[in-house]
Amino acid sequence: MPTDCSWGRYPAVLDQRSVALNDRSAPIPAFEGTALPYGNGRSYGDSCLNPGGTVLRGRGLDRFMEFNPATGILRCEAGVTLSEIIELALPQGWFLPVTPGTRHVTVGGAIANDVHGKNHHRAGTFGHHVLAMELLRSDGERISLSPGEPSGMFEATVAGLGLTGVITWASLQLRRVPGPWMEVESIRFANLDEFFQLSSQSAPLCEYTVAWIDCLASGDALGRGHFLRADHAPGDRRPSPKPSGLAMPIVPPLSLVNKLTLRPFNWLYYHRQRQKRRRDFSHYAPYFYPLDGIANWNRMYGPRGFLQHQCVLPPHVARDAVAEILREISRSGSGSFLAVLKEFGDRPSPGMLSFARPGTTLALDFPNDGHEVFRLLDRLDRVVADVNGALYPAKDARMSGMLFRQAFPRWEDFSRHIDPRFSSGFWRRVME
Ligand SMILES: Cc1cc2nc3c(=O)[nH]c(=O)nc-3n(C[C@H](O)[C@H](O)[C@H](O)COP(=O)(O)OP(=O)(O)OC[C@H]3O[C@@H](n4cnc5c(N)ncnc54)[C@H](O)[C@@H]3O)c2cc1C
Repeated sequence: MPTDCSWGRYPAVLDQRSVALNDRSAPIPAFEGTALPYGNGRSYGDSCLNPGGTVLRGRGLDRFMEFNPATGILRCEAGVTLSEIIELALPQGWFLPVTPGTRHVTVGGAIANDVHGKNHHRAGTFGHHVLAMELLRSDGERISLSPGEPSGMFEATVAGLGLTGVITWASLQLRRVPGPWMEVESIRFANLDEFFQLSSQSAPLCEYTVAWIDCLASGDALGRGHFLRADHAPGDRRPSPKPSGLAMPIVPPLSLVNKLTLRPFNWLYYHRQRQKRRRDFSHYAPYFYPLDGIANWNRMYGPRGFLQHQCVLPPHVARDAVAEILREISRSGSGSFLAVLKEFGDRPSPGMLSFARPGTTLALDFPNDGHEVFRLLDRLDRVVADVNGALYPAKDARMSGMLFRQAFPRWEDFSRHIDPRFSSGFWRRVME
């Protein structure tokens, strides 16, 4: 049996069977043990893995069913990727209402993690834009779901981690855009206080806000970085950029991201922009999906892969908790290649287990260098738990069941909606 893993390449799973789904009107094919839908494997940890069981590969459900260019309502199968939606809809003046930092995720995966993007403060999560969907259960039952239905199954399936059944198709409300270009302003900020000021000034003005921070800076420069705020812009500026064609061809024997490379990377990235503010036009692809420019970039972390730690911290304590997390990282001598900071808005998420909630989210990537990184991540978890924050299941491979249950208090209500034949590595771990 081949080795399977998710985007973080940790954990690796040897004993997982796989069954392809190609026909939305057919029942789920026979499978052994428990089953779990699998989209495009862009989750980082074990929420899309099912060791000892079967994964139901849904990319074959890739048909568009209906698109109305007057209303922007799209009905498509759940294995369609966000990239395919953009190709269809953008030439007709429509774009995704919410998009994560990669376009290579499926509609089913985006719903099952209720993903968020840089416009959370305006648009909420992906689930807010789902008008209807169909759920196929292991006993062959098909359930039509729409927001507000009384059984609770819609709320359980949005952010349902694939555990309530297979989403076969969904109907989505897209958003109008004037074209493929973005007007982007990049502002260098000196520390965390400046980040929070910029974020609250920018949220009412701009649709998209996010910041990259230098997680190795300390003292007065703790949390310095670049704040990016953007809006869709009208006009045909230049020809669309061609795909870069760059790819990480092999898995190097050691992680290329390590203590030696992280410090200069963070320093150079912070100093790449000399002036305090820069305004520019950017094509949507490098703006929303900078990492998609290098295929298989996750291989650069070497054979042991990497771990992502994405938390959300409640508003009144976020500043101090982010500072504490950055100090822990600095003390440990390790660092993160990507450190992304964003303030979420107040719109309540539609899923029982949705991650996005009011507060500040910080996402960090760490090479898997063994015990050291696991000990550091446990210390970061304690900061998150002490302020009643949460970790993002889509990015997690190791949080404790206790932290999960504290951060997602509706888990018991959710459990009643799980398909009795469905399970995942993540779910078994956090329920232990
Ligand atoms: C570079 C990068 C950037 C990212 N940026 C963000 C970001 O900004 N915001 C954010 O929220 N996330 C982000 N993510 C995470 C990613 O958006 C989510 O993990 C997403 O859910 C992955 O979708 P997928 O199609 O690859 O699904 P998988 O990873 O294969 O599966 C994800 C979950 O969906 C379930 N699932 C898949 N298909 C179905 C189906 N048909 N029916 C029911 N359940 C199903 C699976 O069981 C699993 O629980 C990022 C990931 C990467 C690699």
